[in-house]
Amino acid sequence: MQTNVAQLLKAPTGSFRRHEVKEEVDVFGDGHYGQVRGDVEFLRTQRGVLVRATLLVEVELTCSRCLRTFTTDLSLDIEEEYMPIADVDTGAPLPAVEEPGAFTIDERHILDLTEAVRQYAIMAIPMKPLCREDCPGMRYANESGEPEADAAGAVDPRWARLTKLQ
Ligand SMILES: [Zn+2]
Repeated sequence: MQTNVAQLLKAPTGSFRRHEVKEEVDVFGDGHYGQVRGDVEFLRTQRGVLVRATLLVEVELTCSRCLRTFTTDLSLDIEEEYMPIADVDTGAPLPAVEEPGAFTIDERHILDLTEAVRQYAIMAIPMKPLCREDCPGMRYANESGEPEADAAGAVDPRWARLTKLQ
């Protein structure tokens, strides 16, 4: 998710570019690639580049009820300012950004969105992911998606006597 922003860094404050994103990204670094798509806007600020992105990120989650893995889209609204570490005209190093965790634009003027997407995606994962709203849980977790047979019509012996009484 890299973009060369050299031209934008040379442009006056307030200049902006818009990009449409559509690429396969291994967001969590676990070997599972999902599609990231949406719009990204780069705005030249006094200090660097403000990124505003509205993205849908396809990830693989584990259902908290049936424990099956399923694929879903996380919706992210990213807004982060990226600071250049090198002067775009001279290549001279710029003073380090003091804010901890601040995002930077590298010495080749590449702005990499991957880390921001990863951080926002982690925050967007629901506490209890569900493969579907009405997931009935483990009982339905067999191959066919059909309910496990409840020992076909068998009656709990504790109730058997009552059944006879009727
Ligand atoms: Zn489920």
